[in-house]
Amino acid sequence: MNDVSQTPAAAGKILPDAQTVTFVKHWTDTLFSFRVTRPRSLRFRSGEFVMIGLLDDNGKPIQRAYSIASPAWDEELEFYSIKVQDGPLTSRLQHIQVGEQIILRPKPVGTLVHDALLPGKRIWFLATGTGIAPFASLMREPETYEKYDQVIMMHTCRQVGELEYGRQLVESLKDDPLIGEMVEGKLLYYPTTTREDFHHMGRITDNLSSGKVFTDLGLDPMCAENDRAMVCGSLAFNKDVMAVLESFGLREGANSEPREYVVEKAFVGDGV
Ligand code: FAD
Repeated sequence: MNDVSQTPAAAGKILPDAQTVTFVKHWTDTLFSFRVTRPRSLRFRSGEFVMIGLLDDNGKPIQRAYSIASPAWDEELEFYSIKVQDGPLTSRLQHIQVGEQIILRPKPVGTLVHDALLPGKRIWFLATGTGIAPFASLMREPETYEKYDQVIMMHTCRQVGELEYGRQLVESLKDDPLIGEMVEGKLLYYPTTTREDFHHMGRITDNLSSGKVFTDLGLDPMCAENDRAMVCGSLAFNKDVMAVLESFGLREGANSEPREYVVEKAFVGDGV
């Protein structure tokens, strides 16, 4: 029985930590986003992640880590998800409908938070694929614009269509009543593809190492004094970006020891 509408969660049985789906949007064959009600007790810092899940056919929870893509001030919670066809969770989660329930454990954690960085002038958000999710939160967080003069969002996917969630989000910020004015002139968006033709192409590491992104955006090269970075992608991507950031003199920080950059895995494994 793979039909999630038949799971206890969807059948209206109230699970511990259940939240109700309020919105679902499918972006591509492999990507979708959804919003759920927010538990009153949930406090989190923009950029953190929680465990979410569904019940399997035997009523056992299947739970996975998910970055909260909405900012800390939002009344609902947004998530941006991959669809792995044989993935234990997302083979089911991709079929969720408005009104159904998911499990949401209200214990947020994570390293992609402002507290984990020393003060700086510019902040770089560096993401591949669904790794943009924590930055979808941080790009909507007023503190981001209070703390930095410039915010640069670099997002790389294989295909143009996979950039659309991020593109529409960035586009919508201008008209956001809360942060529209703060974003104006401060947020620079640099999407690239690696497989399909696009106006900007190439891996984030290559565009940083070659200096292409600095030239294209009219920026000074990165330096440890001014620049801070947050990284979210596959393990291989994170490792490669860390080496590039270190070559500019930035050092990895943590909640307990703020420095110049922080890193989070967008998923475990090699990717799909
Ligand atoms: P799994 O058994 O978990 O994974 C099956 C295969 O798919 C594995 O090979 C894995 O490497 C690959 N895979 C899993 N997730 C992704 C992904 N996001 N992109 C590309 N390949 C992937 N996933 C999201 O979609 N959105 C998020 O915001 C998100 N945040 C995460 C935050 C953290 C800290 C971590 C550790 C993981 C996060 N993930 C996120 C991954 C998520 O936890 C699950 O792995 C994903 O939902 C797939 O679950 P599954 O049970 O269907 O398949």
